[in-house]
Amino acid sequence: MADKIVKSEEEWRQALTDEQYHVTREKGTERAFTGELCNNKADGVYHCVCCGNELFDSQCKYDSRSGWPSFWQPKSLDKVVEERDSSHGIQRTEALCRQCDAHLGHIFPDGPQPTGLRYCMNSAALKFEPREDG
Ligand code: FE
Repeated sequence: MADKIVKSEEEWRQALTDEQYHVTREKGTERAFTGELCNNKADGVYHCVCCGNELFDSQCKYDSRSGWPSFWQPKSLDKVVEERDSSHGIQRTEALCRQCDAHLGHIFPDGPQPTGLRYCMNSAALKFEPREDG
């Protein structure tokens, strides 16, 4: 597995937009239906906006109507770390990038088969790269 990517708060601030920083490094959540990747249906791979880690394939993206990009599984299970999140008085499962600890979003048990999971991600935490033919 690739080495962990560690940067100071200041380095992340310089590398990211304010919204990307807020979501990924301060565990923020973008407003529903505002993310530019929410309705993206193109074929390709979704990378971590912070470190480039390949997180999700478009083939596992689906329309959850939640207002956030939603996937039923990550590109591989070792890409995403799950942690219990009790903030805001709700028990949720937080999803973090394994490689740089970026907050990505949350995982809910109401997704489609075969996993039954919904990886509810912030568009601001992702960078989409279209798949090149061949
Ligand atoms: Fe990352």
